[in-house]
Amino acid sequence: MSASGKQVLVAGGGLAGLACAVRLYKAGAQPLVFEATDAPGGRVQTDQVDGFLLDRGFQVFLDAYPEAGTLLDIESLDLRPFKPGALVYYHGRLRRVMDVFRDPGHFLASALAPVGSVADKLRVALLKWRLRQVSIEEIAAREDVTTENYLQRAGFSSQMIDVFFRSFYGGIFLERELRTSSRMFEFTFKMFSEGNATLPARGMGDITRQLASRLPAGAIRLGERVTEVRADGITLKSGERLAGETVVVATDATTAARLVPGSGGSEPAWSSVTCLYFAADRSPMNEAIIALNGTGSGLVNNVCVVSDVAPGYAPQGKSLISISVLGLPEPSDLERRVVMELQAWFGKAVHEWRHLRTDRIERALPEQAPNVGMTGPGFRHHDGVYVCGDHLWSASIEGAIISGLRTADAILDQP
Ligand SMILES: Cc1cc2nc3c(=O)[nH]c(=O)nc-3n(C[C@H](O)[C@H](O)[C@H](O)COP(=O)(O)OP(=O)(O)OC[C@H]3O[C@@H](n4cnc5c(N)ncnc54)[C@H](O)[C@@H]3O)c2cc1C
Repeated sequence: MSASGKQVLVAGGGLAGLACAVRLYKAGAQPLVFEATDAPGGRVQTDQVDGFLLDRGFQVFLDAYPEAGTLLDIESLDLRPFKPGALVYYHGRLRRVMDVFRDPGHFLASALAPVGSVADKLRVALLKWRLRQVSIEEIAAREDVTTENYLQRAGFSSQMIDVFFRSFYGGIFLERELRTSSRMFEFTFKMFSEGNATLPARGMGDITRQLASRLPAGAIRLGERVTEVRADGITLKSGERLAGETVVVATDATTAARLVPGSGGSEPAWSSVTCLYFAADRSPMNEAIIALNGTGSGLVNNVCVVSDVAPGYAPQGKSLISISVLGLPEPSDLERRVVMELQAWFGKAVHEWRHLRTDRIERALPEQAPNVGMTGPGFRHHDGVYVCGDHLWSASIEGAIISGLRTADAILDQP
């Protein structure tokens, strides 16, 4: 591949746009990224608030992601792993549902936990074994149905689906109906089985910082909203017009469908999430593990003491608690209502927690119905304009990076 000096204009400085620009730059091209907001990273950013590191919504990096693992300098992210498995709040207390093959110390507690039958636990092991035998490419080529349908066909009991899968995958897909594609389910299940869920020691935003730092000074222009794109250039909100040999739209799916109408991309439905952060003097869990709501009611979907996973998220002697509520619930009094709910999980100490921030993320994940994602080349090329982003492969960090890298490869392959 030779691209010496090729000028590429990239609209959008999220992970897809950055991954695309980094690969282009490394191959000798001259990418210029235009990011509408005041910082790169899109949905993967971390803010410092009162000495705490607050990711923009709770998310994790799966260290088995193959493409992200190749692109990023994983060692310098200093990834801190979660324990495999989860605690599930069910019938009045937190029950341990561990991956017994990776954490045999909890074999008995997990086997006896009233979350799923013994047969369900064996089915989990079988699924894990089966998905280890297939590649991600093979998963992408499989029949695609809803995750709920897939789990039913795999023989899981309705109790296992309702109590465990709806809350665990609810936190990943940001919807509890499990209407998301089974390919996406198989992909994430495989990634969880083959590696760890992790947090970078300095916050998820470190992934963004690392990619942005590989571009030369001036290659990312912040606060520049692209309002129009053509095959040979772009127009910015300021009215400035720029010419380029190649144009890439790496915005979110909704903006991409507006900037490149007729490219076959329609404005997607979005899954939303509300993330509440609290500071505490003591961790309510003292364990690097996720806690799930298996009751099927209430506001909270999942809770994590992120500083138990990566201590740098909180100042010395403090704990940082992250709580995810699916959707955009009525904001009035939300913090108090969530704390009241969690009193049943963690006791009266919850009333000493100090609210730090609530993030309401309307466009968190583009909905991935069956046969939408993980298909095609991972990008679009329409009227001379390239379109990339998580919506064109899988709604994940890995999906955004794959899409950005494949777009760069296609550009580099152009004569
Ligand atoms: C709360 C939450 C939890 C998640 N959890 C996980 C998880 O645990 N694991 C995982 O792998 N993934 C997770 N994800 C998904 C992952 O973060 C995204 O799939 C990925 O970051 C999307 O990257 P992107 O570059 O495709 O899009 P974006 O991050 O949306 O980037 C698009 C960029 O384009 C910019 N832009 C938009 N319009 C314009 C314009 N007109 N001109 C210029 N710039 C523009 C935007 O400001 C933005 O910076 C989560 C996402 C959220 C929000």
